[in-house]
Amino acid sequence: MYISNIIFSQKAIDEEILDLINILIHFLHHQGVSIMLRNFSFQRNNEIVVQIKIPEQNSLANITEYKWSKKLLEVGVDIQVEILGKDIETNEVCICSKPSFYIFLGTPNIPLVCGDCQNSVPLYRIPYTDESDNNYYNICCWNKENLAWSEIEFYSFEEPFAHKQLCDISSSHNKTALELRYIIEKVSQTKCYYYLEELRYVKNLKIAKDKKCPCCGGIWYQKEKILNLYDFKCDNCQILSTLANLDE
Ligand SMILES: [Zn+2]
Ligand SMILES: [Zn+2]
Repeated sequence: MYISNIIFSQKAIDEEILDLINILIHFLHHQGVSIMLRNFSFQRNNEIVVQIKIPEQNSLANITEYKWSKKLLEVGVDIQVEILGKDIETNEVCICSKPSFYIFLGTPNIPLVCGDCQNSVPLYRIPYTDESDNNYYNICCWNKENLAWSEIEFYSFEEPFAHKQLCDISSSHNKTALELRYIIEKVSQTKCYYYLEELRYVKNLKIAKDKKCPCCGGIWYQKEKILNLYDFKCDNCQILSTLANLDE
């Protein structure tokens, strides 16, 4: 993934232009082009610079063709893209021509992973999951909610309600995740698993092995890790999980 500046320049930056820039940045996020909404933006003389993370070097190649960019161009705003460099915290994105399956998961980055190469899949590679808006709004919202619950849980030392939202398959957060998993599979016509956080917190191998699939009650512990990563898998319910580092 890459860090990029979008540079908006005009003789006089006013409120209307700032609003349009803001709408465009949200739009890019919901199109899967900009990965996070927590971007840096600053003014430099007659330029507004917004720094975003993008999946691929060419993710912004068509930026001037979006309707909000056209509105900015109409009022005389010039739009330039500057790639600053590779993001050091994330890998390259998947380049498989047809992944055999996907994994949907909560993450500060792209919530879709290729089952074959384990790299992130830019959301714009699959058809829109939010058909009413022609974007990935539903997935973006869920992923931000996931990040919020994760941060509450982490910084409050396992606040119980946040922990339940992430780890209990019957929580409202996980119910939405299972619906989104189904939508991803339907629109992409590619099998999709949901990565459930539950088992990350099990610290004892005996307890872990006896755990049953939290959806159907079937066996889901795998003697050999799937893809060297996942200790649990249920094909009925299409969920995966991993163990924490065990104390034993
Ligand atoms: Zn791949
Ligand atoms: Zn199951």
